[in-house]
Amino acid sequence: MVFALIGNQNCGKTTLFNQLTGSNQHVGNFPGVTVDKKEGTIRKQKDATVVDLPGIYSLSPYTAEEIVTRDFLLKEKPDGIINIVDATNIERNLYLTLQLMELEMPMVLALNMMDEVRANGNTIDLDILQQELEIPVIPISALKNEGIEELITQALKTASAGTPRRRMDFCQGEVHRAIHSLAHVIEDHAEAAKVPLRFAATKLVEGDQPMIQTLRLSHNEVDIIDHVVEEMEDTLGTDREAALADMRYAYIESLCAKAVIRHGESREQIRSTKIDNVLTHRIFAIPIFLLIMLLVFWLTFGVIGAGLQGLFEMGIAQVTALADQALTDFAINPVMHALIIDGVFAGVGSVLSFMPIIVVLFFFLSLLEDSGYMARVAFVMDSLLRKIGLSGRSFVPMLIGFGCSVPAIMATRTLSSDRDRKMTILLTPFMSCSAKLPIYAVFTAAFFPENAPLVMILLYVMGMVVAVILGLLFKETLFKGNPVPFVMELPAYRLPSAKSVTLHMWDKAKDFLVRAFTIIFLATIVIWVLQSFDIRFNVVTDSSTSMLAAIGKVIAPVFAPLGFGDWRASTALITGLTAKEAVVSTLAILLEAGDVSHVAPMLPGMFTPLSAFSFLTFTLLYMPCVAAMAAVKRELGSGWAALAAMAFQTSVAWVVAFGVYHLGMLLGF
Ligand code: GDP
Ligand code: MG
Repeated sequence: MVFALIGNQNCGKTTLFNQLTGSNQHVGNFPGVTVDKKEGTIRKQKDATVVDLPGIYSLSPYTAEEIVTRDFLLKEKPDGIINIVDATNIERNLYLTLQLMELEMPMVLALNMMDEVRANGNTIDLDILQQELEIPVIPISALKNEGIEELITQALKTASAGTPRRRMDFCQGEVHRAIHSLAHVIEDHAEAAKVPLRFAATKLVEGDQPMIQTLRLSHNEVDIIDHVVEEMEDTLGTDREAALADMRYAYIESLCAKAVIRHGESREQIRSTKIDNVLTHRIFAIPIFLLIMLLVFWLTFGVIGAGLQGLFEMGIAQVTALADQALTDFAINPVMHALIIDGVFAGVGSVLSFMPIIVVLFFFLSLLEDSGYMARVAFVMDSLLRKIGLSGRSFVPMLIGFGCSVPAIMATRTLSSDRDRKMTILLTPFMSCSAKLPIYAVFTAAFFPENAPLVMILLYVMGMVVAVILGLLFKETLFKGNPVPFVMELPAYRLPSAKSVTLHMWDKAKDFLVRAFTIIFLATIVIWVLQSFDIRFNVVTDSSTSMLAAIGKVIAPVFAPLGFGDWRASTALITGLTAKEAVVSTLAILLEAGDVSHVAPMLPGMFTPLSAFSFLTFTLLYMPCVAAMAAVKRELGSGWAALAAMAFQTSVAWVVAFGVYHLGMLLGF
């Protein structure tokens, strides 16, 4: 049996999905986190699966989320629907419920967040709801794992009972007349196309184009429909979509008047309004955001992360020393010994030591996201992003981009306009991803030890500024037009749950570890081999006669105008394409540093502070790693477009780094 899990954004679908299946999908207090559908088996019910679908407000065919959900329901025909409803926001949530009911599929209503309803002293009369809607209503709290067993039992029971017979008909007046007359006209078409009749008729009243195609209506029939709808619009004096919305809300209002008893505004609402008065203040909102980010960076790089990193480095040095000793005792072949210690241990170790910083940074970011603050920032940023031709919607992928460009580029799928989507895909990689952090950390330690957090922030800000400038350019040239209006619901502020935050951190750490032991591991071996042998595969004594040096020297002149013509720098940039952390591991190998704490002190031989900054600028902006390139190709749907994007980003990086280097020289740095 297959159940579809359907509800508004942020009503707790993923939380419920995790409870039902025992899996650990990402939960965020942030609309738009679930883009794809995800499947899982219900616990202790081997042959019942549940599919987590993206959150939607309506079954219209406009946004990617709506299309995914609607197609799933109409084409894959699940055996049952679990409609999850946020009980603290029941009026708005029931709007979708009414549309789902028209599908005439077995359905149960999971009334979520009952813990909050209870805490506010409000009550919802379940009997009235069940009687009026004619669907089983089960009160639950996905977060506290309450009512889940009952929900499973009821869902299985309802699904095995098969198609429900409903007596209830919530339409009234003119709309009622229109729906029912259309139903007669299209009855045989709906049957042939296997679309629920009532749903099809309602959608036609709304003027839903894909439905007209699905039903294969003739011109005459479309004419009849238009006449009926026009008649309805004339009598009501509103347009077709508004007429249906009004009718649904009128029904919901009368239902809730009977079933919901409220004692004034809820505590959460009052609290949220108070907090929002400050955090989304017209003037202070952005300064507050910058201050919060500054605090996060300072804590991550200056206080907590740095301390943990020191410990980690010591640990790695210890392990390396032990391995070194063991290999020496074993009297292993010296070339092999060098490969293991100077290649793999130095390379992988140098990357691993940055794990604490990344985990700590993501600890803070997930606190901000889970509390509901980031949704406010998207809202505040909308007016700013609009100036560069994007909407607040694009803020979500860009924010994810600070973690990793791959999911960020995938998240652009939620953008409904093609123009906004392409522009966001092009600009998102300029948001500095977390894999670049190790590079910044090593270089700032070497050249700007006093001002490390400041230089770091400068780099992040530079990425954003470049994106803004390019956005302005795009808006006037490549992507003329306006971004779509931005509607995002602000979730209530919530205390972040320890489970969700831990999960988030673990996800990041796991990702990082996997990369360190797969792609970085391979890259270190390749780099070590290329730099230890010459073209005739003799072991070299001086690495500047190695194969790698030969390759690096070909490319190095390209970077000479940027201040870092050293072949080792250009080699590191190239290996950085496998994964950005590889820049650090490559430098560790090329400098024969042994372990990462020795990399920084050796860099001043290769760079001046100015050329180091130019190198960082280039690293910040140049084309993303292979994984991100693949994502860009997938989302743009064309390899050539992706290549053009990469060439574009690398050119931008070159030009900006050139500018930074020469401006710096002029200013006498
Ligand atoms: P989705 O967008 O519908 O998948 O919603 P999520 O599962 O990501 O949850 C959104 C937010 O609601 C998260 O902050 C959850 O911790 C919170 N949440 C989910 N279920 C409950 C519940 O039953 N009670 C309370 N108080 N919070 C919940
Ligand atoms: Mg979700």
